[in-house]
Amino acid sequence: MSRVILTGTAAGLPVLDRMNASWVLQYKEHTFLFDAGEGVSRSLLSSKIDPHDIEKIFISHTHPDHISGLPVLLQMMFMTDRRSPLEIYLPASNLPIIERFLLGVYLIPEKMTYSYTLMPIRDNPVFKTEGIEINVFPNGHLDLVAPLARQNGVGAESYGFDIKINGKRVIYTSDFQRTDDIEKYVTTADLLIVECSHAGFEEILEFLQSRKIGRTVLNHILPQQQKEAEALPILAQKYGVENVSVAADGMIFEI
Ligand SMILES: [Zn+2]
Ligand SMILES: [Zn+2]
Repeated sequence: MSRVILTGTAAGLPVLDRMNASWVLQYKEHTFLFDAGEGVSRSLLSSKIDPHDIEKIFISHTHPDHISGLPVLLQMMFMTDRRSPLEIYLPASNLPIIERFLLGVYLIPEKMTYSYTLMPIRDNPVFKTEGIEINVFPNGHLDLVAPLARQNGVGAESYGFDIKINGKRVIYTSDFQRTDDIEKYVTTADLLIVECSHAGFEEILEFLQSRKIGRTVLNHILPQQQKEAEALPILAQKYGVENVSVAADGMIFEI
């Protein structure tokens, strides 16, 4: 059995009761972190997850709400004398910029108690080991900003994750603009972690009607979506969608 722990369920805007984007996947001796938004270190503490157990970090895209917690997490690992190496996968085109940024905040490899390596996300599978295969798909989230980003020497890659684990499938869409962008990648899943701050609840519920999803968790919530979140049982009934819930920090799913 594997476990998914939601450690940050807010959208880009910081709020009091949710941290920015992050979640943890545990299977056997493996612990992986997906995204590392602001507050991830404190969330790991409150979920009683030892940061030293995290063997790999996967960053979907480099918007602040998905990567801003990374430097403090690396510092926390250093201050608690981590020894084991850490791999951080992120979009290839922005890897050199993030590497320089980490140097700029003095996470200098020679002074760390452990080695961290930035790994470019390129081909599928991104990572594979016994019982686990981690693949990515482009979610179109940064397509609009891409020309301006490139003009400024910055990449515009953004990925969702399709994870096969112990014969089950977990999909994490990360951010996307419209369900059209992800429809060919999100067809079946045992657990779907789908962001809903861009497309909105109703578009996603409509999208779910034609999918074979065991359980869905609506993630990446804006404060103004609170009312809709409270009305989810009624909305879900309207669209005939079952096993759907709104994400909350600390929520655990066993798969
Ligand atoms: Zn986001
Ligand atoms: Zn984003």
